[in-house]
Amino acid sequence: MIFYSLNKQAPNVSFKDAVIAGIAPDKGLYFPEKITPLPNSFFENIEALSNQEIAFKAIHQFVNQDLPDKTLKRILADMLDFEFPIVEIEESIGTLELFHGPTMAFKDVGARFMANCLGYFSEGDKEEVTVLVATSGDTGGAVANGFLGVKGVNVVILYPSGKVSEIQEKQLTTLGQNITAMEVNGTFDDCQRMVKTAFLDTKITDHKKLTSANSINVARWLPQLFYFLFAYKQAKSKGKEIVFSIPSGNFGNVCAGMVAQKLGMPTKHFIAATNVNDTVPKYMENGEYHPRPSIATISNAMDVGDPSNFVRIRHLYDNDFNELTKNLSSFSFDDNETKKAMQNIHKISGYVSDPHGAVGYLGLKKYQENNQNTYGLFLETAHPVKFLEVVQDTLNIDPEIPSQIKKVIGKEKVSQKISTYEELKLYLLNTK
Ligand SMILES: *Cc1c(COP(=O)(O)O)cnc(C)c1O
Repeated sequence: MIFYSLNKQAPNVSFKDAVIAGIAPDKGLYFPEKITPLPNSFFENIEALSNQEIAFKAIHQFVNQDLPDKTLKRILADMLDFEFPIVEIEESIGTLELFHGPTMAFKDVGARFMANCLGYFSEGDKEEVTVLVATSGDTGGAVANGFLGVKGVNVVILYPSGKVSEIQEKQLTTLGQNITAMEVNGTFDDCQRMVKTAFLDTKITDHKKLTSANSINVARWLPQLFYFLFAYKQAKSKGKEIVFSIPSGNFGNVCAGMVAQKLGMPTKHFIAATNVNDTVPKYMENGEYHPRPSIATISNAMDVGDPSNFVRIRHLYDNDFNELTKNLSSFSFDDNETKKAMQNIHKISGYVSDPHGAVGYLGLKKYQENNQNTYGLFLETAHPVKFLEVVQDTLNIDPEIPSQIKKVIGKEKVSQKISTYEELKLYLLNTK
């Protein structure tokens, strides 16, 4: 498969080169040249397939020139070794739990796939690759875990000091080995700006091979389409049209769902639910895109003012605003509404949701007001204990801490504090 830059000012590349580069030289996001629908029989018989088989058939066309089938199967077996269950919340509403991976964030799947691909591509390569990534919360832990111990790859993670939860911070600052955590005195936007500046800084890129592990990277972004297929497999027997509500920040997850739809998955509609960082909900009202500085909320992994994947979504619908509005609704909710939703979900079903999932629930409820005859799934993107304080304060309960989390809580944080881009640059120039 050929990938092209959405800015159309850079050469086309293979999957391998798109993964290694992360972003195109013209700063555009890479996009697959073609999305060929899977045969109807795939969806008709999906219940008979294992998750690994579904994933293999779905991603094969995008990667097959660079990953031999045997390698792809090994990677998928390795990364999909946990469950993606649907839990019923109320009539016509279920939640798709995406948090059963090693860091209990849905980003585990994309991070593991990318780490495996990069590890495979850099086998026998003398030059090491440095993965540079900014995180507003969960990306860091998932990337750190996915890449831990991968030969030939070093990882540098930037996170905003004091703006990620304690557990999130522990997950990205306690691993050591090839993982370095940079604690930035600033916001997530500052972290992202530093990363973007470094990619354009030839002093650094002449010195070392840099790549990104944010969802701009096709190997992080594309495998997220699996979730929607795994959900479809479980929910198709409901006999109603399925809609998905996705708590959204950089809009990679919802965009991957739309790729699943292009592959032929029967689904009626997507709802992108956001916190008060409402750049896209505003766009869906009037077709005007105005990025804004991000605002801190209790669903901090979605505190994004200029979602990087939205350009991919517009492209998927040929930049046709009407076509997009047929397939996507987007609503925004504040922290108070989010907490009330967590309480409401808990009251009606006993289910403990995290703030991100609760935002997804709210988006779904709003959509179903006018679309009652649908079966709605909201995505639970993180385990509630990763947002322990919010969950304790809002629901007055003490959730059990799963073993994955217990493992990191007692470990000592190791981070490098930085305030300016120059400090990051110095670090990158002085390490191999
Ligand atoms: C990253 C993240 C999101 C947002 O996903 P995008 O693909 O960036 O829209 C939502 N919830 C959690 C817990 C996350 O970590």
